[in-house]
Amino acid sequence: MRQGLKNKRKGREAVDERRAAVEEFSGARLDTIGSCPFDPILAEKNLENMIGCVHVPLGFVGPIRVNGKWTSGDFIVPMATTEGALIATVNRGCAAITESGGANPHIVKDEMTRAPVFRVKDIAHSIEVAAWVDAHLDELKALASTTTRHGKLLSAKASASGRSLYIRFAFDTGDAMGMNMVTIASDLLARRIEEGTGAKLISVSGNYCVDKKPSAIDFILGRGKLVLADATIPRGIVESKLKVTPEELTEIAYRKNLLGSSMALSYGYNAHAANILAAIFIATGQDPAQVVEGSMVTTTCELVEGDLYISVRIPALEIGTVGGGTKLPSQSEALSVMGCLGLGKAKKMAEIVASVVLAGELSTLAAQAKGHLASSHKALGR
Ligand code: NAP
Repeated sequence: MRQGLKNKRKGREAVDERRAAVEEFSGARLDTIGSCPFDPILAEKNLENMIGCVHVPLGFVGPIRVNGKWTSGDFIVPMATTEGALIATVNRGCAAITESGGANPHIVKDEMTRAPVFRVKDIAHSIEVAAWVDAHLDELKALASTTTRHGKLLSAKASASGRSLYIRFAFDTGDAMGMNMVTIASDLLARRIEEGTGAKLISVSGNYCVDKKPSAIDFILGRGKLVLADATIPRGIVESKLKVTPEELTEIAYRKNLLGSSMALSYGYNAHAANILAAIFIATGQDPAQVVEGSMVTTTCELVEGDLYISVRIPALEIGTVGGGTKLPSQSEALSVMGCLGLGKAKKMAEIVASVVLAGELSTLAAQAKGHLASSHKALGR
C-alpha cells in the first residue's frame, strides 16, 4: 500500500481508491463508510487521506428558552451522540428551564489565546523581552492585522521561568473559534519578537495557551468564550418535572460537584457538562478535542426562597459559526437548526449552548439525586 499522504488526489474517485486500498490492506469491508452523502472536495481543508464518512446518529433537545444579550427565544438544539439516555435527560432539563421562564446566559469574556515559548539568555533577558513586548504592543497589533481581517490582537501577557519565556497572546476572533487564525498571527508576531529582542522562538505553541489540555490558567482566566448562565426553577416545577426536591438538588450539588470534585482535585465541578458539549460539537462541526477545556465547568445549586437557583460557569467555550468543520454540509444544516450558521452568530450560539449545558446539569443532578442514573441508562441505553 502506498503511503496515503503521497496520494494527494482529491474528489470522490480518489476517496474510493484510497478506501479500496484500506479494505485490501485491512481485510475490513467499508461499505457504510463509503456512503458519504457529499462531494469529498467540500472536506478537502478538513482532513487528509479521506476514505469516507462515519455517520453519527443525530437527535435534538428543546425547545429551550434563552434570555440572552445576543439572542432570546425558544431554540431546538442538535446533538450527535451514541450515548443512550443523554438526549432524554438534557431534554427534560430544557423543559423544566423553559417552563420556569428560561435560562439567562452571559458572555463575560471572549478571547482566544496562543502562547509561543522563547528561549532567553537568563531571567534578566526575559524581563527585557517582556518590556519590549509591552512597548511594541501597538506595532504587534498592526502586524497581526496583516494576517487576518477578523482577528484582533487584544493583549500579550508575559510569564517566565528560568530561560523560558511565554507570551500569551489573546485575540478577538469574530465568529470563528479562531485557532488557525491566532496561530498564523502568533507565528508572525513571535518572529518579530525574535528579531527585536534576540529571544529564540522554540514553538509557536508553548503549552501556556492552553489548547486541548485541562489547565488552571484556562479555568481561571478563560479561553474562547467565558460564559455564565443561571435559572431559577420554582419548587413546584422541580418536584413535578424532575421528581426531586430543591433540597435534594442542593445537597447533591454540594457533596458531588463541589466537595467530590475538590477531593479529587478535578477541574470539572459539574455532573456531565462534557457530554452536552461533545454532542453539540460533533453535530455542528466544532473541534471535538476542545471539549477538554469545555469540560471545566462549575455547577452550583442554592435554595433561594424555597426555589432552586442553578448556575453554570463555563470558562472555556471554544466554538465558532464560521471556519473549521462548520462549513461541511451536515454540520451547516445542524447549525441552521439553531439559526446559528455563519456571520454574526457565534455569541448567539454560545448563549444557546450554555443554556443547554445548564439544562443537562439540572436534569442529571436530579436523576442522580433520585438514584436513577443506572436505571435510566439500563432502560434507554442498553
Ligand atoms: P479557519 O477556517 O481556519 O479560519 C476562519 C476563516 O473565516 C478565516 O479565513 C476568516 O478570515 C474567515 N472569516 C470570514 N468571516 C469571518 C467572521 N465573521 N469572523 C471570523 N472569521 C471570519 O478557522 P479557525 O476558527 O481560525 O480555526 C478553526 C480550525 O482550527 C478548526 O478546524 C480546528 O480544528 C483547527 N485547529 C487548529 C489549531 C492550530 O494550531 N492551527 C489548533 C486547534 C484547532 P480572516 O482570517 O481573514 O478574518
